[in-house]
Amino acid sequence: MRYHFLRFPEGKLKAVTFSYDDGCRDDIRLSEIFNKYGLKATFNLNSSWFGKNTNDWHLMKEEIQKYIIDAGHEIATHGAEHRANGNLRAIEGIQDVLNCRLGLEKAFGTIVRGLAYPDSGIRNLNNGATLDGIENYLKELDIVYARTLGEINSSFSLPQNWYRWMPTAHHDAPELMGLIDEFVELKEHHYPARRDPKLFYLWGHSFEFSEKNNWERIEEICQKLSGKNDIWYATNIEIYDYVTAYNSLIYSADGSKIYNPTLKQIWINIDGKTYTIKSGETITI
Ligand SMILES: [Zn+2]
Repeated sequence: MRYHFLRFPEGKLKAVTFSYDDGCRDDIRLSEIFNKYGLKATFNLNSSWFGKNTNDWHLMKEEIQKYIIDAGHEIATHGAEHRANGNLRAIEGIQDVLNCRLGLEKAFGTIVRGLAYPDSGIRNLNNGATLDGIENYLKELDIVYARTLGEINSSFSLPQNWYRWMPTAHHDAPELMGLIDEFVELKEHHYPARRDPKLFYLWGHSFEFSEKNNWERIEEICQKLSGKNDIWYATNIEIYDYVTAYNSLIYSADGSKIYNPTLKQIWINIDGKTYTIKSGETITI
């Protein structure tokens, strides 16, 4: 074999995911739009914020359960107190992430492994914080991925480092609609070395649509991205788990035999042909 590349479930070349922050009440409307178009999202929540009912801004626990979790979306950590990890001494960052994880898991009886860096995230580093230090304590806290932000990532590539997972764009990015058109039109590359899988990852806050009175923008985005046969629609953690399973495949030295030791069925493109390997199966190429 010359080249082999990951294919998403059902052999799909592309995946789309969304990431929305802060657990505000507009998440209900946003979740319903995602559901209408068959899209999956990750909602990043602050364990100290939800369920307070001190104002009308934050989601209540029952609303998170009903509109996010029961609808098949993911909940992830966003700092118990929404503090930027790049500005925190390690012990403070550890507390904010761990408290958020503990709070969300206790409230919803689930396992929470994702993070979207709150506030200015890891763009500024102060008080002795380093990227390696933050990554190390997130690993110790069993956080498996962390979304950062601040740039346009037009390569549509999977993250090289899950703790610096750069989204494709914010939903207000001026170049967004052009990027979506480019992504939707992407086909299997004729050049064998360029057949790597593609990911479109959009982020934002649902309250921005109310503030700017532009809910039609997210409708248009979802409409353009939805309903494609060659796109897998998944939450952030579903993408992480699938890619991790793919990377766990075991090969013979000459690459002719591939064993799938994971619990997931895996798809793989080898020299332009797509194969699938069931859990526990070994295939011969
Ligand atoms: Zn936030």
